[in-house]
Amino acid sequence: MALETVPKDLRRLRACLLCSLIKTADQFEIDGCDNCDKFLKMKNHREMVEECTSQNFDGMTALMSPDDSWVAKWQRINRCVPGVYALSVSGKLPNSLVRDLRSKGVVYRQRDTSQKT
Ligand SMILES: [Zn+2]
Repeated sequence: MALETVPKDLRRLRACLLCSLIKTADQFEIDGCDNCDKFLKMKNHREMVEECTSQNFDGMTALMSPDDSWVAKWQRINRCVPGVYALSVSGKLPNSLVRDLRSKGVVYRQRDTSQKT
């Protein structure tokens, strides 16, 4: 298991709005999102970290074998890295990013399961 994908600190945790991976804001800024950085480009971009991650999330699940998990199934972009994932994430990606993702063939679904739309 890649230890750098596990949150190093329980404060200032944020969850990626696209794949719901949980890390600290610093980890997102230093490494980007391990699953989505080729789309979201958070690495070294503090503002992108703020826009593409949320500190409001519910539930945590540790994902050890992405191959047979629902998260990995949801995530058709590529395989999810092992790590800690939120069950529900509040907030949504900026519209410009959603359009950008769509142009790359990525369908963005809001990760907030706490309310039905
Ligand atoms: Zn992500």
